[in-house]
Amino acid sequence: MAYEHANPELLARSITALEAVPASKLTGTQGDIGVDDPATGEQIATIPNHTVETALEAVGLADAAGKLWAKTTPRHRSDVLHAVYAKLIENRENLALVMSREMGKPINEAYGEVQYAADYVRWFAEEALRAGGSYREAPAGGATMITLRGPVGLSVLITPWNFPMAMATRKLAPALAAGCGAVVKPATLTPLTTYLTVKLFEEAGVPEGLIQVITTGSASAFSSAVLADERVRKVSFTGSTPVGAALMELAGKNIIKSSMELGGNAPLLIFDDADLERTIDGVILSKMRNGGQTCVSANRILVQEGIADAFLEGFTERMAGLVRGNPLNTEVELGPVVDHRAVERLQHLVDDAVAKGADLRTGGSAVSGPGHFFEATVLADVPADAEITTTEIFGPVSSITRFKTQEEAIAQANDTCFGLAGYVFTESLDRALNVAETLETGMVGINQGMLSNVAAPFGGVKQSGIGREGSSEGLEEYQEVRYFNVTRRETY
Ligand code: NAD
Repeated sequence: MAYEHANPELLARSITALEAVPASKLTGTQGDIGVDDPATGEQIATIPNHTVETALEAVGLADAAGKLWAKTTPRHRSDVLHAVYAKLIENRENLALVMSREMGKPINEAYGEVQYAADYVRWFAEEALRAGGSYREAPAGGATMITLRGPVGLSVLITPWNFPMAMATRKLAPALAAGCGAVVKPATLTPLTTYLTVKLFEEAGVPEGLIQVITTGSASAFSSAVLADERVRKVSFTGSTPVGAALMELAGKNIIKSSMELGGNAPLLIFDDADLERTIDGVILSKMRNGGQTCVSANRILVQEGIADAFLEGFTERMAGLVRGNPLNTEVELGPVVDHRAVERLQHLVDDAVAKGADLRTGGSAVSGPGHFFEATVLADVPADAEITTTEIFGPVSSITRFKTQEEAIAQANDTCFGLAGYVFTESLDRALNVAETLETGMVGINQGMLSNVAAPFGGVKQSGIGREGSSEGLEEYQEVRYFNVTRRETY
């Protein structure tokens, strides 16, 4: 069954939720930008198109507030972040509804993202108390060496549209825990969740001005100006690899500390000895969470010959049975993709693969009607020269090939410039660990399709990024180590 329309009650509540999104306090704009609901194409809000001068004003305000915030105690920052966690949870319904409307995430997944996003705040409320540092004797004696971890300073945080809340809190929470002010620039497709989230941070006790939100249709003018400003000491970006590379170049000019969470091309390896049911559950989760629009989504599914037919049959049945429709229905499992360009890109990738000989098992087409929907699609025996094998799919289309040996599968898996996530399905612990260690990725899921965890260091190798988010490493990204050398007399 397909749900074409929103559940009327949820729709009414979403309108109230959209009314709770605050207007920007920054007034320097060059017109407005419309925000659309990808499930209907309808415009649901407008946001200011801030000028470069406004962005620099925001840098000044957040920098001034950040200098005061840096002087607060770790306990104070921790207490404020705990209050923010409680406030976000208290407002989970409004946050989920706004996110669902602007991004198209099925409402149940949106509730999940609110919890996940808030969990980063709770995690870093705890980490704020463990800023680190050391006290030790110099190896040759005669001196004591003290290291201190302090806030890096004003941080520019640039987030993508696919996890509008979690990508913001994964950066904001460690920045605030470390003692930094922040300028956040959300994607123009999904700015409303950020505006609402930051308002709730302030209601919970984060000083006004410490977090500035800039929305702009001129992203490159924004980054060129703010990263040339010497008050900015940190840039954290989540998005595509080409934009990450451009930002690193700009950051390099001012020696700005950078964290880059970039694109992926995740291989998912299924061996003959895998548990079929557990594997299909894991692949559905990895491939189809957020409609396949995650950076860790299984992009190339490699199946060993002995299990391939059974896997393809079971997986295709599950994909074909997914409930598609307006995300404001609790039954819906597959919402729209983010915009019409995504639909066109997916259609091109599918058509190219089929023209080159891939076997289309289910789906394969854009859905006509309002909104930007694409069918859950299974492509089997995809040839190596199909564009889909080297492109980040970012949608509900799965690309599957068969392999004979472990060596062949690993060579294929590592044959990419990306290295964010990988997955292994096997009942052999030896094989799981051997393959996991050989995959050139920052993260590996073993017999499961969901990697993210606030306590884990999230990030990639190769062209998938630099730096880690979450875990204790996530706090260090917003700190600088300083060192004091104290000469000591032997007798005193
Ligand atoms: P994108 O790179 O187009 O945009 C991301 C953000 O950067 C947006 O806010 C955009 O406005 C901004 N931006 C674009 N050009 C800019 C510039 N020159 N200067 C400053 N900001 C600029 O990516 P997207 O389409 O929004 O997101 C999808 C991409 O993000 C995918 O490649 C995905 O893999 C990646 N992603 C990575 C992670 C991760 O943790 N590694 C997580 C989520 C998404």
